[in-house]
Amino acid sequence: MAPAKNTGLQQELKNAVAELCRSFPDTYWRELDSRRAYPEAFVQALTKAGYMATLIPEEYGGAGMGITEAATILEEIHRSGGNAAACHAQMYVMGTLLRHGSEAQKKKYLPTLASVELRLQAFGVSEPTTGSDTTQMKTFARRTGNNYIVKGQKIWISRAEHSDLMLLVARTTPIEQVKKRSDGLSVLLVDLRDAKNRGLTIRPIRTMMNHATTEVFFDDVEVPAENLIGEEGQGFRYLLDGLNAERILIAAECIGDGRWFLERACRYAKERVVFGRPIGQNQGIQFPLARAYANVEAASLMVEKAAALFDAHQPCGPQANMAKLLAADASWESANATLQTYGGFGFAEEYDVERKFRETRLYQVAPVSTNLILSYIAEHVLGLPRSY
Ligand SMILES: Cc1cc2nc3c(=O)[nH]c(=O)nc-3n(C[C@H](O)[C@H](O)[C@H](O)COP(=O)(O)OP(=O)(O)OC[C@H]3O[C@@H](n4cnc5c(N)ncnc54)[C@H](O)[C@@H]3O)c2cc1C
Repeated sequence: MAPAKNTGLQQELKNAVAELCRSFPDTYWRELDSRRAYPEAFVQALTKAGYMATLIPEEYGGAGMGITEAATILEEIHRSGGNAAACHAQMYVMGTLLRHGSEAQKKKYLPTLASVELRLQAFGVSEPTTGSDTTQMKTFARRTGNNYIVKGQKIWISRAEHSDLMLLVARTTPIEQVKKRSDGLSVLLVDLRDAKNRGLTIRPIRTMMNHATTEVFFDDVEVPAENLIGEEGQGFRYLLDGLNAERILIAAECIGDGRWFLERACRYAKERVVFGRPIGQNQGIQFPLARAYANVEAASLMVEKAAALFDAHQPCGPQANMAKLLAADASWESANATLQTYGGFGFAEEYDVERKFRETRLYQVAPVSTNLILSYIAEHVLGLPRSY
């Protein structure tokens, strides 16, 4: 559980975020969705209010808060009907720099991220030919003098067009030359503003929901060696370390989605009268909503637990993974029950249910698919043999 002394702060944060979100109503998100346009005004408002710097320590100009508070912010954005996918990465990507970057890198980048001058919104891991089998990635960064020369292709790199910096994971030692397949991967901070004119191409991918995702091509892109984060070859360790934060924060967004759906569904079920009574009077409508509610609340406890462990610097891999699994399932269950409650009207754009339905479906697949979480739990928590 989050420490009691934080409860007041969390409630204050919740209220402040809800207030900010009121300026970005359903119509704002709906209109952007139809154009698949980036919510620039929303991201700017959120950044200006300091929320994107929640996890940056105060000594670097941030708010110095924990993942518990970051989760509260993201949950509230989703509960209000918005979508934090446009900017959430800055919160967890920054952690890799914070934990493994040199003092010089932290001094150079963290204050500029906190003061809104730069955006670190892009995280480059996925590749088209290797998928979830991350250690097989082919993008290669070859060291020559004071630079790395990067060649390869990434896919599903969200927000690359709206970010100044990208945290890139690439191979620096060929897989045939390492003892463990997770060795020989490195993390580089790529300045996208420079790279765009020197071998980097970004191509947007239109998806079923409004998510500024792209494919990114590296054609001998030079990255200064001073932008290597931590030790060369240790990148997979740094990556795993950041994934717990990512899972907890995305889980919090799912909780927010679940609450949004159930609020809307219950309101509608009380108002919609068919056969002379509100549809919400029928157990066939009530039970799926009640079950989804119970699952959202249970998942929320797991998110709180994972966040509390993370903030206490305790191991939290199982809890972070279970939080993501349970929260994504609960938000999807809520989405489905809500669509059913709305009947035909659920399919009409003007009710926003179909938009949120599309948006929350993503979390069964990204940033890690449900199957891969189940494999993790089976192997690392239950001690069963590795299945892949
Ligand atoms: C909108 C969007 C945004 C994204 N943003 C980013 C981003 O910013 N940065 C980034 O690096 N990546 C990003 N991703 C990529 C995302 O992390 C991957 O899509 C996800 O990890 C799954 O990988 P894949 O798509 O290659 O699926 P695959 O690995 O090809 O898997 C396909 C299906 O097979 C299943 N599967 C695969 N292997 C096994 C197994 N051994 N056992 C059981 N089932 C298995 C998976 O669970 C999945 O359902 C994004 C993806 C999307 C769709």
